Amino acid sequence: MEISEERLVANYRALVSGAGDGVTVLAVVKADGYAHGAKVCAPVLARAGVEWLGVTDAEEGAAVRAAVAGISEKRQPRIMVMSGLLREDAEAIVRHGLTPIVWTRQQMEWLAEAVVQRGAEPLAVHLEIDTGMARQGVAPGAELRELLKWLVVQPNLRLDGVMTHFASSEVADSPLTLRQRVRFEQAIGEVAAAGLQPVWVHAGNSSTVDNSAVSVHDPGSLVWLRSVASGIGARAMVRCGLALYGYCLPVEGGRSLVRPELRPVMTWKTRVIGIRDVQAGDSVGYNAIFTAHRPMRLALLPVGYADGLRRELSASDATPGGWVMIGGRRAMIVGRVSMNLTVVDVTDISGVSVCDEVVLLGDGITADDHARLAHTIAYEIVCGMRAEPRLVNAAG
Ligand SMILES: *Cc1c(COP(=O)(O)O)cnc(C)c1O
Repeated sequence: MEISEERLVANYRALVSGAGDGVTVLAVVKADGYAHGAKVCAPVLARAGVEWLGVTDAEEGAAVRAAVAGISEKRQPRIMVMSGLLREDAEAIVRHGLTPIVWTRQQMEWLAEAVVQRGAEPLAVHLEIDTGMARQGVAPGAELRELLKWLVVQPNLRLDGVMTHFASSEVADSPLTLRQRVRFEQAIGEVAAAGLQPVWVHAGNSSTVDNSAVSVHDPGSLVWLRSVASGIGARAMVRCGLALYGYCLPVEGGRSLVRPELRPVMTWKTRVIGIRDVQAGDSVGYNAIFTAHRPMRLALLPVGYADGLRRELSASDATPGGWVMIGGRRAMIVGRVSMNLTVVDVTDISGVSVCDEVVLLGDGITADDHARLAHTIAYEIVCGMRAEPRLVNAAG
């Protein structure tokens, strides 16, 4: 798995420019950098100037902290733990200088305890507001006000940020997003009324940036976010993951701002491990779902669904499946993708031999192609790739 440093940085810059002045871009490297290798990507992003990295849990946070240890003090990004915590995570969060997203008093009590135990400085926390996802977050209103009343007198915790997450950010003029904004504004009002002054106000993801082209109905979520943040003297931020890696859901019912500029960061490759000629009438692979209808030359690839090459890319006599790129040309998959092996048709590609390089995902075959064939989204495809990432600096 080759990771293009140049493309990762270019995608980050496209997001920064799409987000516009006054909106900081947090770079999400959770799920091992969407399988691109958090250890590989985090230092690249830190050198490119990111202020914040986002991870899932304390364990990932500790690994990312170690990965950026070589970056100069001035460029050390802050690391946000985005998906909650268990009691035993509190100590690691404090020890590694991570910034957790919290929404319950219990989470904050665990963290405050860890601060006291380690004799640490007050810990910065970001409070999540549930505005319509019903996953994480405290509801605006009585529940939030009670939590704030408690938080405001805690000597060991400091409210550094307030955030929420949108459920339908890729939908233009989404009524749900509008409702979520109203609920978030209410919550921000309650935070200010409690006498708290967070430094950061953040919301949204890659699609929030991509879907911010101004419409007649709506100036867009980023214009809104900037004004909500500046209303309480805070800085605005948007949290981007998938687009950093070169993919983004299409905007539903609107125009994309950054999607056309993004380029896939990952090129996933393998090599031909066998070549064989079959006769017309020979079947290929498990359950013989594919039968050669002419003499064919087949190449065997040492990769399968155990590596993240989805079984839905299989091809039968009735339905074509996925493809790979060999020497810049398409080679169609034939038969079932198996656990560690896949067969492709190289009949019309002359000169293919054992050890030749094969592109499974990259130029000519994207995660969007895989997602369409596997009836899922590019997120699941890239996260499912299993190979050792290696940074390359080649342009292109
Ligand atoms: C994963 C995640 C993001 C990034 O989402 P993308 O769609 O990949 O940009 C942003 N915010 C939160 C809370 C997340 O969990």
